[in-house]
Amino acid sequence: MGWKNDPSLGKVVIDEKQLNERVQQLAAQISIDYSGKSVLLIGVLKGAIMFISDLARAITVPVEFDFMAVSSYGSSTKTSGVVRIIKDLDADLSGKHVLIVEDIVDSGLTLSYLMRNLSQRGPASLGVVALLVKVGIQYAPLDLKYVGFEIPPEFVVGYGLDVSERYRNLPYIAEYIGSEE
Ligand code: 5GP
Repeated sequence: MGWKNDPSLGKVVIDEKQLNERVQQLAAQISIDYSGKSVLLIGVLKGAIMFISDLARAITVPVEFDFMAVSSYGSSTKTSGVVRIIKDLDADLSGKHVLIVEDIVDSGLTLSYLMRNLSQRGPASLGVVALLVKVGIQYAPLDLKYVGFEIPPEFVVGYGLDVSERYRNLPYIAEYIGSEE
């Protein structure tokens, strides 16, 4: 069955071409802003995998990678705000220019936790690149240096984002409407 016939998927929110163009633009801007430096990209597993790999390939300054896995307690489609580190970084952040690479910012609680946590590890600088930001629902103002797209507050899947581990390999972002079981 192709993605087009999947009844759990609603409308396409961001297609492949839009994703690719925006990722290239973000990478170009990052390459300018970090010119003469190297940048440590921290991917937040697993949702950011597609984004970090496409982004990193388009950045022209030296790049290092590290990954973190966090889990938020709560149901699969809502975050509770309580964040737990499942996998911590391998790298020492001291003196490094760090960019957190996030798939999607919903309430912003995951990201504000990560920023607080990582800022205490002595990076030379700390920024965020978020592919998607849901409009109007962040509890606390976040300083997001780079944002791919603002989207309506609907649950989406694809390009790394899942529902129970499915749809991460969908090559675009689509609304998830669920199955009627
Ligand atoms: P926040 O802490 O900002 O409320 O939630 C951030 C995390 O919740 C994201 O990193 C992602 O794992 C998950 N999330 C939030 N919104 C969505 C969504 O629309 N689709 C999917 N698949 N995950 C989401």
